[in-house]
Amino acid sequence: MIIPLFILILGLLIGSFLNVCIHRIPLNQTVVTEPSHCPVCGRRIKWYDLIPVVSYILLQGKCRFCKNKISIRYPLVELLNAAAYLLIYNTYGLSVQLLGMAFLVSALIVISFIDFAHSIIPDRIIVVLLIAGIIYSFFNNSITILEAVIGFFAASVPLLIIAVLSGGNMGGGDIKLMAVSGLFLGWKLILLSLILGSCIGSVIGIILIVLKKIKLKQRIPYGPFLSAGIFISIIYGQDFLRWYLNFYK
Ligand SMILES: [Zn+2]
Repeated sequence: MIIPLFILILGLLIGSFLNVCIHRIPLNQTVVTEPSHCPVCGRRIKWYDLIPVVSYILLQGKCRFCKNKISIRYPLVELLNAAAYLLIYNTYGLSVQLLGMAFLVSALIVISFIDFAHSIIPDRIIVVLLIAGIIYSFFNNSITILEAVIGFFAASVPLLIIAVLSGGNMGGGDIKLMAVSGLFLGWKLILLSLILGSCIGSVIGIILIVLKKIKLKQRIPYGPFLSAGIFISIIYGQDFLRWYLNFYK
């Protein structure tokens, strides 16, 4: 009981840091040295108002000083990150994979929210994932380094070909995202992620077109869908691959 509780609290605290990243990275601001300020009145936020989720509820979603609304995104990201950590722990237990996958998923949360709002996947996050992915591939005992290297290309190269053929309708950020994520997942799970992400994206895209929320040719940010595909692969991918192999035996 103590370990899941610790992971929950850690997930909330790191989720709080992810909010800082989501807010500051698109503005090209530093994410580590500057203390938190209210984006509306600029007043420095006290430590007791920075407790994940709890502070949001106690402040009833308003800044202590200027009473302007605090985005629901803040508690949402904290809860999302904590829930993701618990699911990863449930799948991988206390392991190197828990560390690697939690790191990747936190980055995916930041990428998804930034891509959704600004239609970009910042290179800063890609570089961090590239370095972390290379280091992780040496410690990851669930796949070989070769499988990780193939994973780097397995989903990114098909996307690159689609991008070239379609004349740039697929964003470069999506290609880089699938490349670095492949280092963490290996080629089997990253291919599964690509299939799942494309299916989720297509279904939601069609729903939005039918509901006339978007036009047929309009570009929708694909980062959140690819991220969802990667996350489902992380949690259920191993089970799926086992079932799939048994099915063909
Ligand atoms: Zn304020």
